[in-house]
Amino acid sequence: MKKITVIMGGPGSGKGSVAHGLCEKENFTCIETGALLRSLPEDSRAAKLIASGSLVPDSELFGLVEEKINESNNVLLDGFPRTLPQAKWLIEKYSNEFSIRIVYLDIPEEVMKQRIKNRFEHGSDRADDNNNSVILHRLDTFQEITMPAISWLREKDEIKFFYIDGTPDINGVMGQVIKVLF
Ligand code: ADP
Repeated sequence: MKKITVIMGGPGSGKGSVAHGLCEKENFTCIETGALLRSLPEDSRAAKLIASGSLVPDSELFGLVEEKINESNNVLLDGFPRTLPQAKWLIEKYSNEFSIRIVYLDIPEEVMKQRIKNRFEHGSDRADDNNNSVILHRLDTFQEITMPAISWLREKDEIKFFYIDGTPDINGVMGQVIKVLF
């Protein structure tokens, strides 16, 4: 059966590092919505929303993700879904055809803040890593908008949900992820 594997977690939770590690291990089609959106022109509405730490409207994500999912039998999603409507869209549209696995990286807010700070100090050129109030807004958005999507997904019988402790270093986290997925 075709597979969709989703990496979920807050900003700075390590989603991107885990996704890259998995893509080196298996032949996934990797869909990183943050990177796709960051490649849009600087004066686009999406770029302005990202720089302010707000989410891009759901309607702009669906076409982007659908096009990529249609190309593949083995998809890895990093950064999508991030809202309840996105989670419902994914499950309603794809759970018949794909086996869907969610990997949720759980990590305390203080650690997320510290990791974003380190990322910036180590040369991240992301506008949204560089301003404290933007970082706090991203963390609030995660709690208020993404957590309800995660809670909803967790209750779904038709998908597999894996809860991972995201606090160890990347090798420790990858070890847990590989154990549940392979
Ligand atoms: P992080 O998880 O560290 O915030 P990402 O690269 O995943 O980094 O996302 C950066 C930004 O891109 C988000 O703050 C948001 O503005 C936008 N974005 C990414 N994915 C989505 C999505 N699925 N829905 C809405 N906005 C998104």
